[in-house]
Amino acid sequence: MPANQPKRDYYEILGVDRSASRDQIKQAYRQLALKYHPDRNHAKDAEEKFREIAEAYAVLSDDVKRREYDTSGHVGVSERWSSEDLMRDFQFGDFFGGRFNDLSNIFGDFLGPRTRPGPHMNRGLDLRYDLDLTLEEAAKGGDREIHITRSEKCGTCQATGAKPGTTPTTCTECGGSGQKQQVKAGKGVRMVTLTTCAKCQGQGHWIESPCEACHGTGHIFTPHTLKVQIPPGIDDGMIIRLVGQGEPPVKGGPPGDLLIRPHLRPHPTLQRQGSDLFTMTSLSFVDAALGIKVPVKGLGGNSLVVTVPPGTQSGTSLRLHGRGMPRLDEKGKGDLFVIVEVRTPTDITPRQRTLLEEFARLEKSNAP
Ligand SMILES: [Zn+2]
Ligand SMILES: [Zn+2]
Repeated sequence: MPANQPKRDYYEILGVDRSASRDQIKQAYRQLALKYHPDRNHAKDAEEKFREIAEAYAVLSDDVKRREYDTSGHVGVSERWSSEDLMRDFQFGDFFGGRFNDLSNIFGDFLGPRTRPGPHMNRGLDLRYDLDLTLEEAAKGGDREIHITRSEKCGTCQATGAKPGTTPTTCTECGGSGQKQQVKAGKGVRMVTLTTCAKCQGQGHWIESPCEACHGTGHIFTPHTLKVQIPPGIDDGMIIRLVGQGEPPVKGGPPGDLLIRPHLRPHPTLQRQGSDLFTMTSLSFVDAALGIKVPVKGLGGNSLVVTVPPGTQSGTSLRLHGRGMPRLDEKGKGDLFVIVEVRTPTDITPRQRTLLEEFARLEKSNAP
């Protein structure tokens, strides 16, 4: 899938609505999968469509993944599960017999650039960083220094894990492949099971005398300071991805990414909804009836004035254009809405009472 194209909604892909039952989802998937299966459909975009359908089904057919998608969308899913994770739990068997191996070629890189490297490469792990921000910091954006710890190649052993002067030897248990094969004959099929070699943990080599600096791992945890550019208008639920700033790969392949998740602290007077902000102001019923200009505090404690027109009701929201949060994708800013709360007096003087009674009499005689 081209990286610059937004991913489509999974429900939309399967043509079901958000409240669809498991059976409805399964049925929709089955129909679409049969239609677009690359063996049957030779249209140019069939394979792409088929992948999209299978990915949608892999997520929506699993309660945990579906809940994650419902709450945090594509971002939440791709952060928690790699494409391999999604496909590992996914059963093609129902529909396509034993054709998983062929299909796995199609699915090899179906989540896009994250899994692009070739089959023998191990991409480094992604790291996650939680970044606390005030509303003002989120509005302003800009450079921010963060401190992370990630592993680095051990300089003492040049990442071999072996004590300087010694070299790792090929694992005798697996002959260097890192995997052990077991062939079993079943009902008409011969099943080959590959397991990770227990002696070398899949490394393929064996270290007799481990490097003392890194205890034979080849890596050392090292603190790093990184500069991150926070885009103005960032919000909870978004992710800033720093490509290549995650863990280094174990053998070849690219390093993982660093995923920065912003968390906005609650603001004492402002509430955010997308790029709009909301605040309350409390007025006496006299001011609400006659109209008044009231000071309100905007972002960063900015002094603003909102004009309350005569005859304003409690609950009315008054808009201050362009006083909200910067819009992330578009230009400009959202608005600040001031919600008016009209106070009814509870403690009045005899003189005020007389005036109010007079007011009530006039109101009655004005009524049609
Ligand atoms: Zn070392
Ligand atoms: Zn081995």
